[in-house]
Amino acid sequence: MFQRIPTKKSDNSKYYAVLGVGKGASPDELKKAYRKAAIKNHPDKGGDPEKFKELAHAFQILSDPKKREIYDKYGEDALKEGAGSGDAGLNPFDILDSLFGGAGGNPFGGCGSSRDFRRQKKEEHVEKTSHPLKVTLEDLYNGATKKVNTSRNVVCRNCKGTGSKTGSSSRCAECLGSGRTNLIRQLGPNMIQQIQSVCSGCGGSGETIREEDKCGQCKGQKLLHEKKVWEVVVDKGMKHGQKITLQGGYNEAHKKATEDVVFVLQLKEHPEFKRKGDDLFLERTLSLTEALCGFQFSLTHLDGRQLLIKSKPGEIVKPGQFKAINDEGMPHYQRPFEKGRLYLHFTVDFPKSGSLTMDRCDAIEDILPPRAAVMFTDMELDECEETTMIDVNIEDKMRKEEEQQEETKLEDEGPRVQCNQQ
Ligand SMILES: [Zn+2]
Ligand SMILES: [Zn+2]
Repeated sequence: MFQRIPTKKSDNSKYYAVLGVGKGASPDELKKAYRKAAIKNHPDKGGDPEKFKELAHAFQILSDPKKREIYDKYGEDALKEGAGSGDAGLNPFDILDSLFGGAGGNPFGGCGSSRDFRRQKKEEHVEKTSHPLKVTLEDLYNGATKKVNTSRNVVCRNCKGTGSKTGSSSRCAECLGSGRTNLIRQLGPNMIQQIQSVCSGCGGSGETIREEDKCGQCKGQKLLHEKKVWEVVVDKGMKHGQKITLQGGYNEAHKKATEDVVFVLQLKEHPEFKRKGDDLFLERTLSLTEALCGFQFSLTHLDGRQLLIKSKPGEIVKPGQFKAINDEGMPHYQRPFEKGRLYLHFTVDFPKSGSLTMDRCDAIEDILPPRAAVMFTDMELDECEETTMIDVNIEDKMRKEEEQQEETKLEDEGPRVQCNQQ
């Protein structure tokens, strides 16, 4: 019933001619030839849509080992007659997409002329797996190359992904080679529902391999698990959450384009520097004396340089004040020579304990603006009532008040609970 062998031998070189490759072309050669021709003939670039479709069709057949084998043996007609050859939903854009899609993978090298093409890509792109990649702020400042271990699926080289020793397989009897089974459910007198699911007999591949013919290496699975170390280049100025896509090379699958591998940057918090866009923020505490009389300190930057930070002579820094240093922030992504600012946020620490003698106060008052209190006259003082301030722990007081409120609430609710119990 399937792969009906045509009585006359039909042409089996046309597809090769369309792509401009020899009959012995390797999968890679096919891919390259197709890519070149597809770009040249892409309708968005003024190419002939018929020719573009023809290319996609030829490539679709020849890039599928199974179909290529049938084509080589029996020609085009054999493929047309075989059930479930899967060309029904053939979309030449999808084929080009699945091969060369992905961020920045536009075959036109980022020319923005084909918007539809791009939108389609977003919706129907090959499934990707992403891996978190931990980076430090130093990595993002200086740029880094990170090694990441992952495991991936690769097509078994022993059997070239066929899963069998002899390379032969037979069409799955359950799904008749489509890889899917249809289940029809009667919902009502005039209503049926058709549910499509992956065929359990063949796992969706559409073919079965005899037990004794299964490949010794992959046990008929067609795929092998492999450990792989990736070298991921983190560029200067990249951000937390940014994705780095390495095209292809990830999970291989029979009859499908190789998946891209995606790494998502996860920034580990820096103990000192905080980042906002291209700017860096740093908290610094000054003593009251430093705030009033000036300060200088050295700061180790993210690239190990020592920066000398100092106040201007005679400058007073107020609590909560910000200062900025130009070009000492983060490098701008893709323009690393442009840098943001480094902001310093100052807190001023007052002396923790001790009190000042009258002499010292007088000395301070000589320098700083005089106190308001000394401006009262005796007359004014007579009219005021004297008070005494005591030390309080306001946080403690608030907490106690909250606890009390909770208790009162519980008491209020008390009788109601009892009511319910009775
Ligand atoms: Zn099946
Ligand atoms: Zn194998």
